[in-house]
Amino acid sequence: MRIIDLSQPLYDGAPNCPAHPPVKVEIIADHPQVGWRVELLTLASHTGSHVDAPYHKLANGANLDHIPLGQFAGQAVIADFRGVGPDEPLTADKLAAKLPMPLADRIVLLATGWGTKRAKTDEWLQHPPYLSPDGAEWLVNQKIRAVGIDHYSIAGPRDPVNSQTHTILLGANVWIVEELSFPEEIFGISQPFEFMSLPINFRGFTGAFCRPVAIVR
Ligand SMILES: [Zn+2]
Repeated sequence: MRIIDLSQPLYDGAPNCPAHPPVKVEIIADHPQVGWRVELLTLASHTGSHVDAPYHKLANGANLDHIPLGQFAGQAVIADFRGVGPDEPLTADKLAAKLPMPLADRIVLLATGWGTKRAKTDEWLQHPPYLSPDGAEWLVNQKIRAVGIDHYSIAGPRDPVNSQTHTILLGANVWIVEELSFPEEIFGISQPFEFMSLPINFRGFTGAFCRPVAIVR
């Protein structure tokens, strides 16, 4: 069994959504003084690779406790959009061209290439490609289980588009995984493949950090 890591690292000052506080890591105990080392974290629950539950956008939506853990593991396919430009919408037409296979109950991962640009630059923070509302509707109509992207938000920083895209997906109980990273080797494996992004067991949360992986047997 081979595990391909699709996560982004978390560390002090890691790039994150500008609407959230900066990622802070403090060492509150260290070896020379006390014989062990411990980190204290200050960061939003939607930081680094993480899942969004419907409650993130919908006041009456399911939170993490309402979603069976098995939902976060399933068969995934990648839509390879690498080379897409800044601010470019991923629309229904573009998705249909990249995803000719059956998608029912599949986890659809959108590879924009923005994962490799992850830095506190104006381009990464403010101008990512994004899933348009009509693209989200198209995915919901294909009866997908979940959707992921290699950026901090499935629809970037722009409103009302971000809000609409989230509402369409989460309103259909399609969960989202954000801030993925796609190493070159993921594009060489056969599709669909086994994918897993198990969220940390935070009680009643709207989302949580996870470790997204592809499993190749
Ligand atoms: Zn999120």
